[in-house]
Amino acid sequence: MVGALMQRTLIIFKPDCMDQRHVGNVIDRFEQAGFAIIGCKMTLLTPALLREHYAHVADRPFYPHLEAFMGARPVLIMALRGEQVVQRVRDLLGPTDSRKAAKGTIRGDFGTDVTVNVVHASDSEVNAAIELARFFRPGELYDVKS
Ligand code: UDP
Ligand code: MG
Repeated sequence: MVGALMQRTLIIFKPDCMDQRHVGNVIDRFEQAGFAIIGCKMTLLTPALLREHYAHVADRPFYPHLEAFMGARPVLIMALRGEQVVQRVRDLLGPTDSRKAAKGTIRGDFGTDVTVNVVHASDSEVNAAIELARFFRPGELYDVKS
């Protein structure tokens, strides 16, 4: 397609999404939007990894609560590929605070509050590359033609 901007993004299915078994529903929304799964693993996020991943909020008062929440149980981590996938996934999620997210968005439908908000997704193409490298080795990503 002329002008198509193929990108990758990094998704984390947060502990609330795992516990409440919304993973399949969220993946279905991503697949219906046309995105391809190019990598997936399950892991328990350590405090050190969370402090790196959330460095931009590590000094905020809520950080200990966020770290405890994100490290409470193993989570699924996924790499998606698609046209404009970074912004389009953010649009599917809705805003950070689930209580302010519109119905029909992932956070609006399944989220609880500003911390417990279903899914992490990279917020820019630059950060997507950094985050994908944080969680996946190059050989663990399987790009597909689309
Ligand atoms: N967060 C929080 N309280 C806040 C802001 C953020 O607990 O006031 C948590 C929330 O889980 C969010 C994460 O910190 O998803 C990272 O914050 P960011 O601003 O990057 O939000 P996101 O990109 O996830 O929408
Ligand atoms: Mg963010």
